[in-house]
Amino acid sequence: MIRDLNASPFPGDGSRRPLCVSAAVPTLTDTLDALLPQTQCTQCGYDGCRPYAQAMAEGRADVNRCPPGGARTIEALARVLGRPARPLDPACGTHQPFRVALIDEAHCIGCTLCIQACPVDAILGANQCMHTVIEADCTGCERCVAPCPVDCIAMVPAGRDWTAEDAGAARARYQARNARLRARHDEAAGPAARTLANKPVLAAPDPHDKQDRIAQALARARARRP
Ligand code: SF4
Ligand code: SF4
Ligand code: SF4
Repeated sequence: MIRDLNASPFPGDGSRRPLCVSAAVPTLTDTLDALLPQTQCTQCGYDGCRPYAQAMAEGRADVNRCPPGGARTIEALARVLGRPARPLDPACGTHQPFRVALIDEAHCIGCTLCIQACPVDAILGANQCMHTVIEADCTGCERCVAPCPVDCIAMVPAGRDWTAEDAGAARARYQARNARLRARHDEAAGPAARTLANKPVLAAPDPHDKQDRIAQALARARARRP
């Protein structure tokens, strides 16, 4: 259950008071983004909360596409945009109590696919080592679940609500991760790419080799099971 999300941008009686995210005047996208839960789950059909906020600001998306935000977020978005609030679009999903990911560490094969999928860097681990979720940083987005080749990630009740403070922290982690990934991409696109290509450890792994390593790790994991 998402709670208090609207309290931060619209404290008290719900009057229209935009959130100041910096010294600059916030844009409409900033204001809408501040109302979204920041789980970065993509259930709205966009790459994250901010792309959805931008689509709404540009009139390309309706206000009822965020399952984690539920009815309260829909109402807040509708207020800002002067549109009617509508029920959550069932095609996007359903509003559920807040859950977090839990890795069955005994079965983890250390493939790192969940780390690559996590939009907020909430998973710790290394290649061929056991992985674990940092519960306090997990947004419950479920993006790590499908990529896991051994189905050892489950979503479990968080036992608490997702708050505006959680949303702010998740936005910061999401932005930091994106900045880091962009920096890596830029490096690969420039002259440094040649240097990287000459370093096998840093170069992208051969996909067949990766498949082989996953198959070997799976076999080891099966052998460990009772
Ligand atoms: S929480 Fe998920 S569904 Fe809601 S805006 Fe963010 S990415 Fe979209
Ligand atoms: S650990 Fe999984 S559920 Fe939690 S934030 Fe990362 S990808 Fe989402
Ligand atoms: S995707 Fe699954 S098996 Fe691979 S590292 Fe993550 S938890 Fe372990």
